[in-house]
Amino acid sequence: MMRAGLALAGLAVLGCGGAGRNADSAGGTTDTARVPTVASTNLYDSLGNRNGRIPILEYHVVGDSSKGLFVITRDRFRKDLELLYSRGYRPITVAQLVAKDFSDVPRGMSPVVFTFDDASPEQFSYVEKNGQLEIDPSTAVGMWLEFQKEHPDWKNRATFCLLPAAEAGHAFFGDKEKYRGQKGEWRFQKVKWLHDNGFELCNHTLWHAQLSKYDDAFVQEQIARGQLAIDSVVPGVKVQTFALPQGLWPKNRALAWRGTWTGKRGEQASYDYTTVLEVAGGPARSPFDPQFDKARLPRVIAFGNEVQKTLDHLDKAKSRFVWDGGATP
Ligand SMILES: [Zn+2]
Repeated sequence: MMRAGLALAGLAVLGCGGAGRNADSAGGTTDTARVPTVASTNLYDSLGNRNGRIPILEYHVVGDSSKGLFVITRDRFRKDLELLYSRGYRPITVAQLVAKDFSDVPRGMSPVVFTFDDASPEQFSYVEKNGQLEIDPSTAVGMWLEFQKEHPDWKNRATFCLLPAAEAGHAFFGDKEKYRGQKGEWRFQKVKWLHDNGFELCNHTLWHAQLSKYDDAFVQEQIARGQLAIDSVVPGVKVQTFALPQGLWPKNRALAWRGTWTGKRGEQASYDYTTVLEVAGGPARSPFDPQFDKARLPRVIAFGNEVQKTLDHLDKAKSRFVWDGGATP
C-alpha cells in the first residue's frame, strides 16, 4: 500500500511541468546549464538573486495529528516536501548556508534549510524486521527517504538539533520501548546514521532547559553536556550550530556560543559555535547580504500553511534567493 501510494505521489509531481522530469533525469547531479521551468522561478533572470532571503524551516513532532505550532501531521510534512520541491527549492544545511556552499543547489533554484528540533522518536524510529533494523517509514526521516526515492536530486541535507537526555523520549530519538518501541541501545546508531548520511548535527542542550532561568555555570553545563553526548557518538565531530530551547537566551548571551564545563569527577567539555538558531523571525538573509549575521539566524516554524505562505510572500516581494550557479568564496 505504502509503495503504491508513493508511486502515485511521484507521478503527480512528474505531471506538473518540466521540473520533475528534469530533476529525475538529473540523477542528483548538478547541471549548471539546466534552468528549471518551475513557474515561480521565472520571476528571476538567469543571473539569479544572491541577495534574496532563504527560509530556515523549523520542524518538531511529525505525527498522527496536528497541535499548535509544534506538532504537525505526516500528511502536512509530505505536502511541504512536495511544495518545496515543485517550486524549485533544494535542501542545504545551516553549516552550508553559513559557508556560502550552494553546490547542492542547481542554478536557477533556491536553497531551503530544514531544521528538526528535540530529537523525538517521531522524527527517527527504527523497526526491527527479521533481526535487522529498518528506518520506520512513518517517521520524518523515513518520509524524507521515501520522498528521495521518487526525487533523487533531493539530497540528505538537513540540520538535526539534538537532545540526548530530555523527557518523554526526547533523548536521541527515543530511549525506552514505551516511546514507539524504541530501544535505548539504538540511540547512538541513529545519531551516527544521520552524520554518516549527509545530515548536520546541531546541539539543543542536554534536556531542553530554559536557559534564561539559570546561572552561568548551569547554562554551560546544559550546553557542554549536550555537546559531550554528540561527541561520544561521533568522536571529534565539529558541531557548529546550536539551537536555543524555546528561543530563550541565557542572561549572559555570550554563553550561547562559547563556554566550558567541568564535572564533579573532573570531566571537562567546552563548546564554540558559529551559529545560534532562534525559534522565529522569518526567512534568513543571504550570506552575501552585508547585513547577514552568521552568529544568529532566524527561523520559520513549519506548521499549518506557513511554508506555503512564506514561499508565496518571497515570490510576491521578489525577495527569494535564487542561486546563480556562480563561484563562491
Ligand atoms: Zn526544542
